[in-house]
Amino acid sequence: MDNAAFRRYGHAFVDWLADYFENIEKLPVKSKTLPGDLLSRLPASAPTDGESMDEIFKDFRELIMPGISHWQHPAWFAYFPANNSPPSVLAEMLTAGLGSQCMSWQTSPAATELEERVMDWLRQMIGLPPEFSGVIQDTASTASLCALLSAREYATGFTANQKGTNEPLVVYASTEAHSSIEKGVKIAGLGKDNLRLIQTRDDFSMCPESLAKAIEEDLGSGLKPACVVATLGTTSSMAMDPVEAVADICKQYGLWLHVDAAFAGTAAVDPNHRWFMKGTENCDSFVFNPHKWMLTNFDCSAYFVRDPEILLRTLGMQPEYLKTAADTEVKNYRDWGIQLGRRFRALKLWFVVRSYGTGGIRKMVNRHITMAKDFSARVDSDKCFELMAPRQLSLVCFRYKPGDTDEEGLNQINQQLMERVNATGEVFLTHTVLRGKYTLRLSVGQRTTSARHIQQAWQLIKEASQQITV
Ligand SMILES: *Cc1c(COP(=O)(O)O)cnc(C)c1O
Repeated sequence: MDNAAFRRYGHAFVDWLADYFENIEKLPVKSKTLPGDLLSRLPASAPTDGESMDEIFKDFRELIMPGISHWQHPAWFAYFPANNSPPSVLAEMLTAGLGSQCMSWQTSPAATELEERVMDWLRQMIGLPPEFSGVIQDTASTASLCALLSAREYATGFTANQKGTNEPLVVYASTEAHSSIEKGVKIAGLGKDNLRLIQTRDDFSMCPESLAKAIEEDLGSGLKPACVVATLGTTSSMAMDPVEAVADICKQYGLWLHVDAAFAGTAAVDPNHRWFMKGTENCDSFVFNPHKWMLTNFDCSAYFVRDPEILLRTLGMQPEYLKTAADTEVKNYRDWGIQLGRRFRALKLWFVVRSYGTGGIRKMVNRHITMAKDFSARVDSDKCFELMAPRQLSLVCFRYKPGDTDEEGLNQINQQLMERVNATGEVFLTHTVLRGKYTLRLSVGQRTTSARHIQQAWQLIKEASQQITV
């Protein structure tokens, strides 16, 4: 493709995206594609001769688009959001065009220095103390793995990297912790048997007394407690672990404290919603995802550490071919994470924070929370529905509960209800299970979601519930 064609298609694609954003509500939120639909329509091998962009783009529209679930749809209430915004998309285009590989300061000094600055903006925005340093990771899963690896090194006096781990190190998280913690424990070689899932209280937050008891038991059996992962905003129900109490326990036993605030972290930008951050000033590492709720398109995860030296001792590598004259004066973020190569992600974050300002982000967070409150009130005032967990931030956990159906029946009915509602293509909800009960989740977080969409979602849920025969 020559530059003239690049220019022409570039303009056309931005036009296409602008139309997409404008008309997205006409598309089914959740793709109606069946398994194998696309695969069977794609040639089994790559073309020998290059094809025209017109043909490729036509296939994008006709073959690919039907298989897309529209995360930017205002009636996206599934999982957690992964919202984006026009400034973020534009910055991502520049990042792709520059094509810089930002592993070291030297490989694009601006990428490193912008990352350092923007991450410090974020740190201030969510109220972490100045001693924390930030680095962008691809995902919270990776950030939590970095935390577990750091905790492993810290607990073994930095010998595990050298000798491997023979000593059983124990990691603690609540039963509601994200699956990425178990995965990280496995990857870090700590062993799933050494992950203790601590009981939760009525609101699904970690019970600190049970944590202390589990640590004592492990010490009694000659094991070595190493790390606690506290969750702020659990994926199932947005429960907030009591970080302050957990931090006290970590201090008492000399354990690493990692805080996973993947979704909820963005809410801390508003001081009125920052209460859950209490105690995070005492953690060792903290992660939240601007790519979930902060208008920054996937991927962009913000990882903060109290002592970067520990991270560097855990993950730093100095092969000859990467050494540069500037190494003593600059940050080389390749040593702050697992991968060597790094995308220039700070650019989109900078575009987003400058475009919206902290005020704009706060407003969005508040709008979403208000809408979730409104939905929660509708559920609460309907005698055929019930809330399954306290509404926290922008997530509502609920179920349909007609008459005197037994638990088994309720699980089935609610699954049917969700499938019925999603089949309309008008909204997309997902589920979880809380204490054995099938639970629907309405998670608000789309940039363009408005009260109308909440009202419509409730109406669809009500209608669908009336069509279900118990
Ligand atoms: C979404 C989520 C994660 C995983 O996020 P990724 O960035 O996709 O790895 C981890 N923890 C919690 C609490 C989450 O909600």
